[in-house]
Amino acid sequence: MIVKQFFAGPINANNYLLVDETTKDAVLIDCSEVKEEILETIKELGAKVKYILLTHGHFDHVMGVNEMKKHLNCEVLIHEKDVEWLSHINEALPMFGLPPAEIPQYDKNFSDGEVITFGNKNIKVIHTPGHTQGSVCFMIDGKLFSGDTLFKEAVGRVDLPGGSWNDIQNSIVNILFKLDNDTIVYPGHGDATSIRYEKEFNREI
Ligand SMILES: [Zn+2]
Repeated sequence: MIVKQFFAGPINANNYLLVDETTKDAVLIDCSEVKEEILETIKELGAKVKYILLTHGHFDHVMGVNEMKKHLNCEVLIHEKDVEWLSHINEALPMFGLPPAEIPQYDKNFSDGEVITFGNKNIKVIHTPGHTQGSVCFMIDGKLFSGDTLFKEAVGRVDLPGGSWNDIQNSIVNILFKLDNDTIVYPGHGDATSIRYEKEFNREI
């Protein structure tokens, strides 16, 4: 599987393109912006993006969704508990000095444990509430895409509506830290890490 990482959107979220090398089917994890670099990479790899999978509904991870759908003709999936965030996008944007934006549209919800298939690849949804109530991580081939739940040496903020320290602690300690120690973690912001490294060096858990 090919994994490509992009820094996108007003506060540099990580967007990831995952491509099944055999069939060229692909998914995009989070969509902060329609960046030329992302479109070029999709084209170069011959990737057919089936889904945009959203780790959660915060503006900095979803702002490119509507525009990207026009380019890729794919479906947008999000956990039902974060759908409400999509309609609140314009409450957050002025705080970052950004103009109002169109409300991001989605096609379907996924739920905990659901397996989404693209090409020969299966990606599993793991519901990890805490940063938001509908935050999820995606597990595939020993790689975890952790959104804003788990960062290198830190965890996602819990001071926004729906945030909960108890929930994020439970999600990390009782769900993510039960994964194989060798699992590579690709977060929604910052550098990649691993479950083993975070068990030892995370400052907040
Ligand atoms: Zn967030």
